[in-house]
Amino acid sequence: MTSYDTGCERMIIRGVFEELVDRMVKIGGAVDPRDVRNEQPYASYFHIGHNNVTPFDPYAFKLIGMRMLRESGAELLLQTQFIDVIKNGDRITGVVIANKDGLSVIEAKIVIDCTGDADVAARAGVEYIMGNEEDGNLQPASMFMRIGGADMDVVNAHMREHSHEIRPFFGPYSWLIKEYAEDWGDFPRGEICVFADVTPGEFSINCSRILNIDATKAEDLTRATMIGQEQCQHIFNFLKKHAPGFENARLISTADAIGIRETRHIAGEYKLTGEEVAACKVHADAIACMATNMDTHNKKDPGGSFFIPKNGPYFTVPYRCLVPKGISNLLVAGRAISADAIAGSAIRMMPSCMAFGQAAGTAAAMAAAQSIAPKELDVQLLRHTLVQQGQFVGEEAD
Ligand SMILES: Cc1cc2nc3c(=O)[nH]c(=O)nc-3n(C[C@H](O)[C@H](O)[C@H](O)COP(=O)(O)OP(=O)(O)OC[C@H]3O[C@@H](n4cnc5c(N)ncnc54)[C@H](O)[C@@H]3O)c2cc1C
Repeated sequence: MTSYDTGCERMIIRGVFEELVDRMVKIGGAVDPRDVRNEQPYASYFHIGHNNVTPFDPYAFKLIGMRMLRESGAELLLQTQFIDVIKNGDRITGVVIANKDGLSVIEAKIVIDCTGDADVAARAGVEYIMGNEEDGNLQPASMFMRIGGADMDVVNAHMREHSHEIRPFFGPYSWLIKEYAEDWGDFPRGEICVFADVTPGEFSINCSRILNIDATKAEDLTRATMIGQEQCQHIFNFLKKHAPGFENARLISTADAIGIRETRHIAGEYKLTGEEVAACKVHADAIACMATNMDTHNKKDPGGSFFIPKNGPYFTVPYRCLVPKGISNLLVAGRAISADAIAGSAIRMMPSCMAFGQAAGTAAAMAAAQSIAPKELDVQLLRHTLVQQGQFVGEEAD
């Protein structure tokens, strides 16, 4: 999703994210977000909410991501699972991990939880809410897939013809789903979003929809994965049979892992709310600025809610949202930061999660160097350091 401000004028999620994008673009593995606009195939033909998104190829992300990690000097352990924490009072002294070597412990001055699900924080006893505490909604899971071999001229012409029918949650092919309802069956989604990939004729499709999944449970993850595989085949068959331009398409791949939109939201020193996102509130301790949409998918029906922040150039995420209550040497980055479910639906996007990662990593390094807790850090110094790294943290604060 977007890394630009609400006016689509300037890139506001920069730093590591911008470097990653630039380097992917350079090897032909991504499209520069400045060239992407609503209604293009890259935007799945949507009229709103998809300006300046960054289409990228997974291979490019893996390659450049690895290169950047190597260059940074980070020590990396792949295929390694976090299992548990070792605690001393309010400190995590080490994490227990499992991998090919068996079980082992990594000790650390400061731990950063980027599991998406706040697994480390939860094990350490940090409080959290699952999904939306107001209505119990937990956003559905989706299995992504990539399809190739589509005839772009035919697909584009068909979309132009039906453009007036496209709206959030009843987007592309909602008209075919209505016409061929028997073939679509009781599938819990009313559209087939087709985001054009970097390679012409290829699309990423994210509209499988698996309900009632608690992705902090292994059984649910397994069930979601198995249902997701079947749903992808179902969507592919439907497109091939009914969607002009997909007659000769082939299914390239389903995702390596089931896509999870929402699980835990940790209790942090500050809780960002949907109202603040809508108001484009600027915080004095902002470590990231963004203009991503509030995008919640309902767990019961094909719909959801989709709001675009408009009341300012961007909203901000305070550093305090990354600082969990109760554990003194832990930071949380990614979609699990301290936010209510509506704010969580806006901050969960990839560019913003990368900005939180950069802020958490920088804060952890600074706190470790000073032998202080992340909570005690001089936030203005952190913001200054992020700006020196090329990140944007906003120009005003109240
Ligand atoms: C279907 C779908 C469509 C989406 N579409 C878009 C989109 O178009 N644009 C956009 O910007 N965003 C999109 N998002 C949102 C975005 O992809 C995620 O919210 C975002 O990637 C979350 O980042 P994260 O760093 O919090 O977690 P993740 O990117 O999920 O990273 C968490 C990592 O931690 C690892 N991990 C988890 N638990 C453990 C453990 N116990 N031990 C070791 N490792 C562990 C995981 O394997 C994973 O690698 C979409 C999400 C979904 C599900």
